[in-house]
Amino acid sequence: MLIERIPGEPVAGTYPVAMTTLGDLVDSFDRWFPPELAEDWDAVGLLVGRRSAQVSAVALAVEVTDATLDWAIKQRAQCLFVHHPLYLRGTTNIDGDHWRGNLVMRAVEAGLAIFVAHTNADHARPGVSDALAAALGIVESRPIRRHPSSAFLGTGRYGVLAAPTSLSEFAARVAWALPATHAGVRWAGASDRRIVRVAVCGGAGGELLEEVDADVYVTSDLRHHPASDYLASGRAALVDIPHAAAESLWLAPLAARIEQEFHGLQASVCPLSTDPWSGHHA
Ligand SMILES: [Zn+2]
Repeated sequence: MLIERIPGEPVAGTYPVAMTTLGDLVDSFDRWFPPELAEDWDAVGLLVGRRSAQVSAVALAVEVTDATLDWAIKQRAQCLFVHHPLYLRGTTNIDGDHWRGNLVMRAVEAGLAIFVAHTNADHARPGVSDALAAALGIVESRPIRRHPSSAFLGTGRYGVLAAPTSLSEFAARVAWALPATHAGVRWAGASDRRIVRVAVCGGAGGELLEEVDADVYVTSDLRHHPASDYLASGRAALVDIPHAAAESLWLAPLAARIEQEFHGLQASVCPLSTDPWSGHHA
């Protein structure tokens, strides 16, 4: 139906709403997770997209997969925010017949921008490990490995529990805080070991083993020899948690932060697991 109106006069119900552009979002993401905090080898920032594009919905996932893309498109999102980069090494072409290039092609065809915040989000505050610490009820204090630019920023977090507990009870709390996975939560050390001081690192935190000083260290992807050597040194117990599940905890507080910053914008967290393991026998 055509509505006759005086030129310049807004039509009832269609008053102009301040629209968010992808550029506005990118500016905020870069402020929250400054790209200069990323490791040299990392590839963060806008992977696909045009800053002038209007955005009314943002989808958040740990990584770009066919399943998370399908979900983001179904949400009618114009931006998919992810933690893991799609490309890390020098890329000279987007090959749509390769699975990686195909993901990029699919995003472009669906009008979906992709933004990556990886090690910059590990080092920033609040960042990935802060969300993990908060989910475990840990009052955090300082990073395990400081960033050169600030003692406040860096990789992993040290913190303390409100009340001491045993290693097995603590591991149960960790399992409860994380989404269910086939890999589950494993601990290493005496089950009744007293736990107060906790170190956590979202993602693969094996490289911090040598410097961790706590009652327990919670991280992902620990390998046999570094883990057993570490235990033999008697310094701390270990809790090994699934990588993607641990990092997914960061997305809900981030979605809330996006909605708070951009009124009217919808931010939703992908409920699908991007854990590669899909079965197990005990
Ligand atoms: Zn990760």
